[in-house]
Amino acid sequence: MKAIYPGSFDPATYGHLDIIERAAEKMDHLIVAVLDNPSKNSLFSINERIGLLKEVTKHLSNVEIDYFSGLLSDYASRRECYNMVRGLRAVSDFEYEMQMALVNRSLNPKIETFFMASDNKYAYLSSSIVKEIAKFGGSITHFVPKAVENALKEKYEGRK
Ligand code: ADP
Repeated sequence: MKAIYPGSFDPATYGHLDIIERAAEKMDHLIVAVLDNPSKNSLFSINERIGLLKEVTKHLSNVEIDYFSGLLSDYASRRECYNMVRGLRAVSDFEYEMQMALVNRSLNPKIETFFMASDNKYAYLSSSIVKEIAKFGGSITHFVPKAVENALKEKYEGRK
């Protein structure tokens, strides 16, 4: 089975990587699709987010990193892949994720969304929290892979 794991990945954390690794084990092919949304104020450019994801998934031979803009349902049609993977951390994720899954299915009935429960260790982890900690010089070693840690340091040090 082939699936798409869509998201902003601004930047990728160990929480994302855990979902990618577990999904890749179950799927023949996993497309990690980075959303290029200029109206979302991203810290990392689309190329930087893609580069970091490629770096941290290079040990996974059936994982492809791609990007899309616009509607996920249009991207699904272009890629001829209608299985979506999304991660669920806490109940707080549920409402938004459910809404997205239903909207996507109403746009294209072929689309199915598969939810994967976050690992306990990463249930509190989000890209926003990691950016907030990095911004104030806190340690993010346990939250993101080394390449992402370095990129965050560079971003915030470069801004000082
Ligand atoms: P989006 O802006 O589309 O929510 P994110 O990059 O924040 O993009 O998240 C992409 C997906 O990864 C979402 O399904 C989100 O719930 C999931 N996710 C984010 N952080 C974690 C985590 N720590 N553990 C499990 N899933 C996560």
